[in-house]
Amino acid sequence: MLQPVYTFAKIAEIIQSKNQVIENETLITELVTDSRLVRLAEHALFFALVSHRDGHQFIKDALAKGIKHFVISKPEYQQHYPETHFIVVDDVLRALQRLATWHRNQFTLKTIGITGSNGKTIVKEWLYQLLANDFNIIRSPKSYNSQIGVALSLWQIEATHNLGIFEAGISATNEMDKLAEMIKPNIGILTNIGEAHAEGFASKTEKLTEKLKLFKHAKQLIFSPDYVDKTQKDSFSTLKHFTWSTKQSADLQVFKIIGEGFNTKLFAYFKGEEINCNLPFNDKASIENGIICWATLLSMNYTPAEVALRLNKLSHVSMRLALKNGINQCSIIDDSYSADQSSLTIALDFLSQQNQHTKKTVILSDLFETGKSDLTLYTEIANLLSQKKVSRLIGIGEKMSHFAHLFSCDTQFFTDTDSFVKAFDTLQFNHETILVKGARRFDFGRISKLLTQKIHDTVLEIDLNAMVSNLQFYRAKLKPGVKIMAMVKAFSYGSGSFEIANLLQFHKVDYLAVAYADEGIALRKAGITLPIMVMSPQESAFEAIISHQLEPEIYSLEILSAFIAALPADGNTYAIHLKMDSGMHRLGFDKADINLLIEKLKLTERIKVNSIFSHLVASSEAKHDDFTKKQIADFEHFASLFTQFLGYKPLLHMANTAGISRWPQAQFDMVRLGIGLYGFDAALTNQSSLKTTMVLNYRNASKNTSARRNGRL
Ligand SMILES: *Cc1c(COP(=O)(O)O)cnc(C)c1O
Repeated sequence: MLQPVYTFAKIAEIIQSKNQVIENETLITELVTDSRLVRLAEHALFFALVSHRDGHQFIKDALAKGIKHFVISKPEYQQHYPETHFIVVDDVLRALQRLATWHRNQFTLKTIGITGSNGKTIVKEWLYQLLANDFNIIRSPKSYNSQIGVALSLWQIEATHNLGIFEAGISATNEMDKLAEMIKPNIGILTNIGEAHAEGFASKTEKLTEKLKLFKHAKQLIFSPDYVDKTQKDSFSTLKHFTWSTKQSADLQVFKIIGEGFNTKLFAYFKGEEINCNLPFNDKASIENGIICWATLLSMNYTPAEVALRLNKLSHVSMRLALKNGINQCSIIDDSYSADQSSLTIALDFLSQQNQHTKKTVILSDLFETGKSDLTLYTEIANLLSQKKVSRLIGIGEKMSHFAHLFSCDTQFFTDTDSFVKAFDTLQFNHETILVKGARRFDFGRISKLLTQKIHDTVLEIDLNAMVSNLQFYRAKLKPGVKIMAMVKAFSYGSGSFEIANLLQFHKVDYLAVAYADEGIALRKAGITLPIMVMSPQESAFEAIISHQLEPEIYSLEILSAFIAALPADGNTYAIHLKMDSGMHRLGFDKADINLLIEKLKLTERIKVNSIFSHLVASSEAKHDDFTKKQIADFEHFASLFTQFLGYKPLLHMANTAGISRWPQAQFDMVRLGIGLYGFDAALTNQSSLKTTMVLNYRNASKNTSARRNGRL
């Protein structure tokens, strides 16, 4: 089978452009939905997706990155950029999916489609580990399982692949049909079904019915009757199925589970015989995921003995790109459990989003089982590193050093991890961001340990994927157009702020807020460009606030006067945020202050009130709901009186994390999201929809108290 090639004109035909696209023979190899993540701009096609953000707004940015080809749904943008090539469609997402489907249909590879509430990514990664010897596998990178992620994953299929493993995740009804159309799995796997409300469905049945749509083209289905009720089971009874259960009779009926240290021994009935296997894990989720993999391989006709052999060798899947504080002010991105090209690409994207250090080092092992010649592989990797502006490569393994001439950055090579560890003290690591990425057999865990070694400190790991997932969770609760101010005060609740601020900036929150000016200054120095509100601006810090484009919270007339007096004589306008007291009777303006406040603001042309806000004191507690309602009403009243006199409309905001969950009427123009980002929300009865983002590793337990005193906790 030949690898299909796509010219711009060909794609226009496939995705049914509404405009005439003729004789544009530019080869398109890369689909881009995010202007920041372009690699080969010349051959890239930018899809201006319209979702929470309107992708059309980023056309300018994409052009600046060198992209010349676009798929849009707003034809007026053609006029703005005459030298540019556009395909106009009704729905950009559908166009992307149509192209992915078309590409996928050029191949006859076998595909496994995985859906369910939990475990999709682990099952996918484990099946990859279990089957990589027998197949050349394409799989979705990390958890690319959405309407966009699946399309981008399918685009990666190449003619040499003979098995595809893709996950499909949905958050609303009617999404699965499209994923099913794209993936067309031959084998379906339903991992499990959790609580319905956690995923935006009215009922468990509705959720399951929707998920099962993935399998409408499948020939075979692997599932547990424990998660599927009788009527639903009947609805796909024509499919060949293979069931597993720990509770009832099934094709693979697990009847005994024995934990032995870190291992678990599983015993089951299969085809009337007793079989067993050992899993090198002991937690509940891993056991269930392991059983699903066991069932899948048996259903693919592997012998029980062969499956047991392979299961015993399963290894841990790192679900996150952990970012850690390292030695000598370095930041460490620890992805030391796997090395393949697609996850390397993601990790490099992440590395390039980190603005806190200009120097970027990649420690990378040889890559295996890529299905490419070494020359092709390392040429591609060298290009990738240079596109991502990596300053230094430390290559580890027998192979990579042979291709040293391909790399344009500084390089150092070691034949194995041991020789790197021996040389560690002679290597320089200082004020840089370091990506550590190696195939399992290289045991790069040792390297990341060396780099994060701290004697008297705790190492805080932040699970950035979890934080993004929490951000999306709250974003989904907002009415259209409502902005997000992320609270990164107290150095992000003690977790180190610039990494988090970078991530939040990348994921397009609208505002950041810090407690003190020095936190805001640190963020500016780390390259954060988002607007930043400073909640406790000391008069002594006004000058620094002004010179770092920070925006003070103003809570009294005295502070306002002091700030105005501190303005430089440049005639520019400076932004402030007015705090209104709606209940705590501590700091803030109230109705009686409005006249004086307006008078003062009218006297100077140089102050712009960017927002007016107040704080919900008891938004999570039902017993104080009457009080909260009064707070909201008072705030509304104050804001409407005030803006009437002011003559323009500042942003209004009031809700914190629990306020977002419980008080949709308090969303106004913006919400202030704090602790929810870290996976805590006192207003949620079921926290399972949030993910825990922080893990503290104590390097030296006896020093905890001093760490706490130093403000690290
Ligand atoms: C900390 C803070 C928040 C965020 O509160 P959470 O409950 O952590 O979401 C919102 N507003 C103000 C003024 C804050 O100080």
